[in-house]
Amino acid sequence: MESEAPSPRPSPQGGEGVSGNPRPRRGRGQGEGARGEGARGEGVTIGVDVGGTTVAAGLVAADGRVLEHQQAPTHARGPGTALETIGDLLEQLCEQARARNVTVTGVGIGVPGIVDAERGTVGVDIHYAPELARAPLAAMLGARLGVPVYVDNDVNALALAEWTWGAGRGARSLVMLALGTGLGGGIILDGRLHRGQSGFGGELGHVPIDFHGPPCICGGRGCLKAYVSGTDIGLRGGERLGRPVGAPEVFRLAAAGDAVADAVVDEVCAALGAGLAIIVNGLNPERVLLAGSVAKSLRPIEARVRAALARYAFAEALCTTHLDILTLDKDATVRGGAALVHYETQRRRTTRS
Ligand SMILES: [Zn+2]
Repeated sequence: MESEAPSPRPSPQGGEGVSGNPRPRRGRGQGEGARGEGARGEGVTIGVDVGGTTVAAGLVAADGRVLEHQQAPTHARGPGTALETIGDLLEQLCEQARARNVTVTGVGIGVPGIVDAERGTVGVDIHYAPELARAPLAAMLGARLGVPVYVDNDVNALALAEWTWGAGRGARSLVMLALGTGLGGGIILDGRLHRGQSGFGGELGHVPIDFHGPPCICGGRGCLKAYVSGTDIGLRGGERLGRPVGAPEVFRLAAAGDAVADAVVDEVCAALGAGLAIIVNGLNPERVLLAGSVAKSLRPIEARVRAALARYAFAEALCTTHLDILTLDKDATVRGGAALVHYETQRRRTTRS
């Protein structure tokens, strides 16, 4: 199932009247933007996804449509400048919101690491943008923009987006695995994002699936990530094929009948089957969603992934857990930040009352 053209589940709106932007004017044509139909008179949110190479950000309507999309190299102004890039993009989007006569009601930021989501402070383990370690992003940017800012792990945010508007809409529980450069996870259980006691909830890339396995960047051994992330598939493929290759090429060669590449793909499927079985047997969620660049390569060999999973998972648990391999568009991660705003607005309102 694709997450495109989502039909929205009603979502809590953030509009608490806090905005650094002019209130929308009443009258004809308000909110009419470049694409014709903006979010007329409604609040919009800004979703930001901080990646190792690119920061993507957008204005997102209450129904999940991305009205404006901006992106820039994470370190556009040089090493250690991710924060400046985020600030630049936020300024551009606030300007676009003013031009559309819509009010920005909140900003949600997904970062590739562990986050203290309650305070909106980035943790120490922030891959690819280490300059953000310990940064109190929510407080810093909230004071500058005059709107609530929420920060969470990027895959937690992506899980919220698919739960709110996409392939996981309406599920009571879901697990998102994002297989890209690394391997991140997000867990929603009984209608709540499971962040864990200190923000490590959902770090499924670093569950060990082979206790004799290779060392992992996290300091562990035999982690799921070391077998199924795009980086690791490329590295393993390169070692076996004797030349540098990327993960997509490993899958392409396997599909074309290359036995060496196919053996690598076999290992990927087996490892992923074991990793997914941990999720299915351990949590038995209603839905498991696979996303990220590697998921695109897995789509054509979905039957192999399912066969590997069936070898390890309880059959009765598996028949109640629905697995989807998604091909998400570039707006998906931007929707993640927006979904985080809606989720946190509702959660904090409920907690207060
Ligand atoms: Zn690890």
